[in-house]
Amino acid sequence: MQYRYFTRDKLKVSLLGFGCMRFPVLQNDLGIIDEVRASDMLKASIQMGLNYIDTAYPYHSSKSEAFVGKVLKDGLRDKIYLATKSPVWLMENYGDFMKYLDEQLVNLQTNFVDFYLLHALNKKSYEKILSLDVFKFIQEAKDSGKIKYIGFSFHDELPVFKDIIDSYDWDFCQIQLNYMDREYQAGLEGLKYAKDRGIDVVVMEPLKGGKLSLPSDEVKSILSKSDRNISASAWALKWVEAQEGVKVVLSGMSSMEHVHDNVSTYSDSKALTAAELSLIDEVTQVYKDSFKIGCTACQYCIPCPSNVNIPTIFELYNNIFVYGTEDQSKEAYKRQQELKKDVSQCIECGVCEQICPQHLEVISLLKEAHNGLV
Ligand code: SF4
Ligand code: SF4
Repeated sequence: MQYRYFTRDKLKVSLLGFGCMRFPVLQNDLGIIDEVRASDMLKASIQMGLNYIDTAYPYHSSKSEAFVGKVLKDGLRDKIYLATKSPVWLMENYGDFMKYLDEQLVNLQTNFVDFYLLHALNKKSYEKILSLDVFKFIQEAKDSGKIKYIGFSFHDELPVFKDIIDSYDWDFCQIQLNYMDREYQAGLEGLKYAKDRGIDVVVMEPLKGGKLSLPSDEVKSILSKSDRNISASAWALKWVEAQEGVKVVLSGMSSMEHVHDNVSTYSDSKALTAAELSLIDEVTQVYKDSFKIGCTACQYCIPCPSNVNIPTIFELYNNIFVYGTEDQSKEAYKRQQELKKDVSQCIECGVCEQICPQHLEVISLLKEAHNGLV
């Protein structure tokens, strides 16, 4: 296993981190973790040198932390660094921060969390917790020894990321990054911004939620120009490894096969060559060319006055053509319908078309996407 020095205290963390949100489950129910298989996977990864475990309050219908706590209590807690996250959307008053942290410590069966993150920050949630005096809580939690290092995970636009980075003396942060999402949310520019300020970065979604693990024949043939005989997931992980400033890469592993493949990928310290990185650029272009709708997910068009989730709907539709995710896209669109954020809410006011920097005919494209998603 490759290791990196993490935080200003230079803790030696494994490059591969275990994301505890996609364990195998029973009865197709996210809230019923297949504890036998999942525990074998966690233990095997630790035995193979992984020492960074990342969970969060809501994962697996709020069952992940308790499960992880149960596995770690068999003498594994002191062999690993444990990360979990504060569910900031649930905070209603100052006391809630500590109330949830205490509940998490009980579930995790530990006295402290090594890496505590404010979960999924965006402009709105950050403003809310600032008004609830979150920095005072962080200091209190650190002083009491309940957390060792503080960071945040992030889902918003780059300028918001920079503002959050500049607003506090963070120990680390966590961003989404993969070769298809180089300019999405914080992206590569955000990675550099954090790195230049001495803030270490953990990467999530290196496989874009598994989509980069299922290559088309065209993608396979491009990657086969290299004699590196590795899986499509491994190519995506190696691309993230090659980005300067990345310290930990989280993979939400859901089978023992994933564990072995990912551990072996990051045990191989042979970095991608410039020629191999170019092959990934070629693959990126192939995926981009198969986008049906040229939406860049810039999000300028939301919120729409009728709450239509425009970029998400376009992404779900595009994913069918790019990654062959028809069933998942349709399932996800059903959720947009339940939330009343689907195309049927559109009143054709045209506001989005005036704003869209790609000059998309959003109204008619939404109708096309809807037809493809039902
Ligand atoms: S045209 Fe439809 S999708 Fe666009 S802003 Fe108006 S209601 Fe929203
Ligand atoms: S403004 Fe245009 S490109 Fe940006 S998210 Fe909306 S539809 Fe996509």
